[in-house]
Formats: sequence, structure tokens, C-alpha cells
Amino acid sequence: MTRLPGYAAPTGQWFHSGNGQRWWFDSGSLALDFAYTGGMGEPGRWEQMRDASDLGDWLAQRYTDVGEAAERDLADALSLRGAIARLAQAASDGAQAQADDIDTVNLFAATPDIPPAIDGGRRQAGRSRVRVGQALSTIARDAVNLLAHTGERRIRECDADDCQLVFYDESRTNNRRWCSMQRCGNRAKVKAFRAKEKA
Ligand SMILES: [Zn+2]
Repeated sequence: MTRLPGYAAPTGQWFHSGNGQRWWFDSGSLALDFAYTGGMGEPGRWEQMRDASDLGDWLAQRYTDVGEAAERDLADALSLRGAIARLAQAASDGAQAQADDIDTVNLFAATPDIPPAIDGGRRQAGRSRVRVGQALSTIARDAVNLLAHTGERRIRECDADDCQLVFYDESRTNNRRWCSMQRCGNRAKVKAFRAKEKA
């Protein structure tokens, strides 16, 4: 399988709401997707990392050849995730980033990441499995890439009044409005339609 660097790999994941429904949220960044495995801003609501195997499963959906996750990897992952979540929230709010969080992300980003690889060579890319630590480094490096855009206001909250989801706007025109068209985008359309009918 061809492996793309973190900033170029496909993003997005399913969110489960309390009533058994699920919807697709593409945060626009690997690092933000990762932050949302713990319900940024709403701790516990979307917690997907209850044990080390949850971490392994999440990574396996993105990188097929990641080795098994240990308890220690989970602790590392949660510490990195918390730092990314707070930095992204601060960027979205236009607030000051905490130096400790910056240090945490930089620390993980400084370790070896998952090397990108092209299919079709003689040596099989999947033969040597990458360590969870390398995957965390890839996520941290993606966070560095993400937060480099803070000045462009590309890290923003969804436009819906009752939705605080934060995304990274990858669009050329920087005019993304909704966390998801399926969810808040359609709700806003329906609301506008009803208001028009009433008038
Ligand atoms: Zn929304």
C-alpha cells in the first residue's frame, strides 16, 4: 500500500451521536481527526481511545502496517492528543497558545515518523512494521503543519450557532462554513427555507 505523508493522507472519520446515528466529519487534517477521538472541548463524549487496542485500531485504519500499541503508547498518544486539541482550540478562538502544549507537539515531531513509500518496488513496503511511536510523530508533524496556518484563520469553528466543531479549511478560497454538509449545512438550509416560507 502506498503511504502518503501525514499532511497528504486522506482525512475524516465517523462520529457517533447519542441516538445511535452516525455521520462523517472530515476535520481536514490528520492531527485534528486525532484530536477528535476524544471530543475536543467535550471530554468523554466521543472518547474512542479507551485502551491501547483502540489506539491500534485507529492507526490501523490509516496505516495498515503499524505494530501493536502498548499501554505506554496510549499514555503518549493521550498526552499528544490533549496538546493538539488545546492548540487547535486556541487557534480557532484566536487565543494564546500554551508553551507547554507547543513543547509537547515539538517533542513528538522531533522523533522518527512513518516514512512515505510508493508501491511496486522489489522490497515490499509492508514487510517491516512501523512502531506506534512513529505514527505519533507523523501526527505531531501534521499538527505542526496545521498550526503553521494559524495566521490565515484556516482553523475555525463551524458556522452553526449550536455547533463548536473545529475544522481546518483546506479550500483554495478559505470559505468552508460547516463541520459537515450532511449535518449543520443541511440544517441551516432547512432553517433558511422555513424562514422564507414563513415570510
Ligand atoms: Zn457543525
